Amino acid sequence: MKLIKGLNLLRPCSETSFLENAFVVIDGDEFISVGTTEPEGEFEEVLDCGGKFALPGLINAHHHLYSALAVGMPPPAKTPLNFTQILEEVWWKLDLALDHDATQASFEAGLIDSLKAGTTTVIDHHCSPSFIEGSLSLLGDTGKKLGIATGLAFEVTDRNGQELFERSLQENLDAAEKHSQDQELAALLGLHASFTLSEESLKKVAEVHSKRSNWGIHTHLSEDRADEEDARNRGHVSVVERLDHFGLINQSAMLIHGVHSLESDAELIQKHKAHLVHNPTSNANNRIGMLSNQAAERMKPGLGTDGMQSNMIREAKEGMLIRSSHMSAGDAGVDYQAILFDHNPRIASAVFGRSIGRVEPGYRADLAIYDYHPRTEVHSDNVFGHVFFGLGEPCDVMSGGRMRVQNHHLQGIDEEAAKQEAAEQSRKLWQRMQ
Ligand SMILES: [Zn+2]
Repeated sequence: MKLIKGLNLLRPCSETSFLENAFVVIDGDEFISVGTTEPEGEFEEVLDCGGKFALPGLINAHHHLYSALAVGMPPPAKTPLNFTQILEEVWWKLDLALDHDATQASFEAGLIDSLKAGTTTVIDHHCSPSFIEGSLSLLGDTGKKLGIATGLAFEVTDRNGQELFERSLQENLDAAEKHSQDQELAALLGLHASFTLSEESLKKVAEVHSKRSNWGIHTHLSEDRADEEDARNRGHVSVVERLDHFGLINQSAMLIHGVHSLESDAELIQKHKAHLVHNPTSNANNRIGMLSNQAAERMKPGLGTDGMQSNMIREAKEGMLIRSSHMSAGDAGVDYQAILFDHNPRIASAVFGRSIGRVEPGYRADLAIYDYHPRTEVHSDNVFGHVFFGLGEPCDVMSGGRMRVQNHHLQGIDEEAAKQEAAEQSRKLWQRMQ
């Protein structure tokens, strides 16, 4: 057992949100006790943090690691005029150009960024149509190497033809079968979105989906109005109703965005206890609208970054500010602290089948530790302010009871080599895209 003491624990959404000069005891990869009166007993390892602050390891409920090498990419030759054109001109060109090496470099780059920002759980939605077989295991291996609990899913779609559709579907099934016993990995059934899947294709997806009990899909949903129009043109009331018609919505389903979903869709999502994930910076960037305050209040969504970034505190804060820019003084907002520190732990715990995202006994031992010297007093009632307006980058990050980042440096990973590889692979990737 390991004792970590001298921690100022920030626990938004836990019963006591601030524990001063606290300790945690870790057995294996879990917290077994948390408190302020130092426990007696023999410990294999004792670490005194000397008053550093700590948050639970953060969770990204929807990421696209494959886009990690898009930073600084040349703009598309033709300026996209709507959401579908953004996909066609940018993201579908990028994903098609990903080979094994570029995919590997993307996974490494995105997961390193995540870890260094204190994110210890990433639920990814992957797409590399030119490198399908084994891509999810490569992601799983990369996640394990860095100590990040990783959600795996390959986006099944019709847009690259029948053969690639079949192979992508099989990649999801293979990953689910191969990694079903692994506590660090969770394989979902990835679908790109309803509007890139025909009725015939969804029927095939449903057949594969039914092979595993309570298997969850992970799909974009009603991100743009085009998705809803497509569902209606195919004779369905909405995207949610269409997916439900094929039996794809259950308590493990990850439904991403839901910006244009109907009131009746919210009822269906709640009835099945499915998970909605909100990605505010991506929605703002794509100018597709914003999940309404009412829908956010009702469906208790989790928070993802949709590939936009790997820093969850920043995503929550930017989401809050984007929303505020549409509101007037005195309007009731959306509780982004609850979305990040309550809803995300609930979703990650359901997806991985173990307790994740809180500093409480029984939870995976994940901590983001900050060398933070607050100018103002910290107490239980102002944790929100310190988390979103005070903390900088974490200096140390622990996941599964092991230190993965110490004094801003990755442990056991050659970060410089990973950076050089990312630079080389991005050059080749951008050339292939031209
Ligand atoms: Zn996405």
